[in-house]
Amino acid sequence: MTQKDKQLQNGNMFISPSGPSGSKGEMNHSTSVSNTGAANDKLDDISNFFEKQLQKWELARTNFAGLKTVKTKSFSFGDFEIRVQFNPARIVSSGAKVDAKTIAERPCFLCSTNLPPEQISIKAGDYSVLVNPFPIFPEHFTIPYKNHVPQQIKPYFSDLLDLAKSMDKYVVFYNGPKCGASAPDHLHFQAGTKNFLPLIDDYKRLRDTHVKLKEVSGESRLYSFGNYLRTVFCIESNEKNALVVHFNALYDQLKAENAEEPLMNIVASYENDKWYVFVLPRKAFRPWQYTATDDRQLLVSPATVEMCGIFITPIESHFEKITKEDIQNILEQVG
Ligand SMILES: [Zn+2]
Repeated sequence: MTQKDKQLQNGNMFISPSGPSGSKGEMNHSTSVSNTGAANDKLDDISNFFEKQLQKWELARTNFAGLKTVKTKSFSFGDFEIRVQFNPARIVSSGAKVDAKTIAERPCFLCSTNLPPEQISIKAGDYSVLVNPFPIFPEHFTIPYKNHVPQQIKPYFSDLLDLAKSMDKYVVFYNGPKCGASAPDHLHFQAGTKNFLPLIDDYKRLRDTHVKLKEVSGESRLYSFGNYLRTVFCIESNEKNALVVHFNALYDQLKAENAEEPLMNIVASYENDKWYVFVLPRKAFRPWQYTATDDRQLLVSPATVEMCGIFITPIESHFEKITKEDIQNILEQVG
């Protein structure tokens, strides 16, 4: 058993302040400590870290300030709503080229050696928590793995659970390498303010009418969330190992034989000693509207946030013209 396995098994995912980016070469985890009873301290650390980063970094400060005046609108689908956000800073992600050639030729923006000098980080086990300078959430983080390894979920799923638990003021999420990750070559998660994504509130509110128990596996329960325009599963458990086993079984069910990772977005929330892991299988990444060359074009690039009920577009005219029918059509294509 490796040191990392031991850490994870013991639940010793930890977050501790590290120095500014000048110390970013020190992304090892040799100084692992237990965080027993330190939940409140950890949350304070992250909020303080967020404020400290904004003070130091004008780009991040400007973009988070811009979020406060961002234009939004919402469409009702009866039992739930989908929101649309006009967010010009997100052109870096919505407009990102993620083909293999482009990715291979650009410097990786998640490798510690390429971070801008203003960027600071805190450690979370084998990961670094960074403030995302192109935010969607009121507090938004990117969480790269210490090494430049391809984006993939199965070997790292339990890390997602550890992060969700140690950052339980936030949801932690994953974009598959072919359905939303703008760095498909560097393993990473993201985290954002809780109670922001409509999906989680919808799931709880519509539990009696839209949510069905599909399968029980040990201490873990798999539910499907129906009549919701896209396919959503939720695995609930207070037992990490049972949840990992259950996720792996779902992953294998979604995976075509001999195929790569099934397209999926995942969002995890840890509440009252229990994980809620939402798995959103994808049929496609970008809808046809994305590359339309006429006035039907909509620069909407669905990833976890969109699949969870917030459509982001960086183009104001696209924000103005998008309709309820467009949203329904896009969700039917991709989810
Ligand atoms: Zn990298």
